[in-house]
Amino acid sequence: MGTMIITLDGPAGSGKSTVACELAKRLKLPFLDTGAMYRGVTAACLDRGIDPASHPESVASLVRESRIWFAWKRDPPALHVDEVDMTTRLRDPDTTKAVSDVAAMPEVRTALVDAQRRISADLGRLVTEGRDQGSIVFPDARVKFYLDARPTVRARRRAQEMRDAGQQIDEGEMLEQLRHRDRRDTTRQDGPLICPSDAIRLDTSEMGLGEVVDRVEVEARRIIGDQV
Ligand code: C5P
Repeated sequence: MGTMIITLDGPAGSGKSTVACELAKRLKLPFLDTGAMYRGVTAACLDRGIDPASHPESVASLVRESRIWFAWKRDPPALHVDEVDMTTRLRDPDTTKAVSDVAAMPEVRTALVDAQRRISADLGRLVTEGRDQGSIVFPDARVKFYLDARPTVRARRRAQEMRDAGQQIDEGEMLEQLRHRDRRDTTRQDGPLICPSDAIRLDTSEMGLGEVVDRVEVEARRIIGDQV
């Protein structure tokens, strides 16, 4: 069987993580959460007392010297930096706050893009989500999606997710953080967030996430036929 790569890109809160994960289940393909890799590197820096903004050279040596890998048998797959399972640290507020600074560093992007391509070569087939998957990492992917939503809607979704996880967050503050992350992610030199010209673009502002998954599944099956 040939390679089968489906990419989903878009900003935080567009619904792409939930949608990509559910799509992968429906199509019985592995799911690659590339945001987890950037978050894992960020959390590993913070846990070693490295402030990424003021010590980019320490971040660069950490990515050079560490193995960043997923334990695929876990559901969802567990992101490790060397032998440490970083799962519980990925969504902590300090990680979220620092991640887009780390993700803007060229050394970090080069290392993680290489790792993503290696994962894809090993697995052969996958649903992958991030910011640059359809544009930079897998320009020849079979199916590409770009999910977007209005910033206020995205902030509301993220705030609700955090409340569900037992954390208190103000929606106004969330909106500020999202705008900051959007700005960082869209204006960086290396691998900025863009909608690939050959991607199917969906604005999910007025859609429930179940509806988005249904829609994405229909579009994906229309393109790939019975190849999965
Ligand atoms: O998708 P998630 O919110 O987990 O991503 C966290 C951060 O990681 C993003 O804000 C972005 O800065 C970075 N990222 C990236 N490229 C990717 C995936 C994530 O730069 N492919």
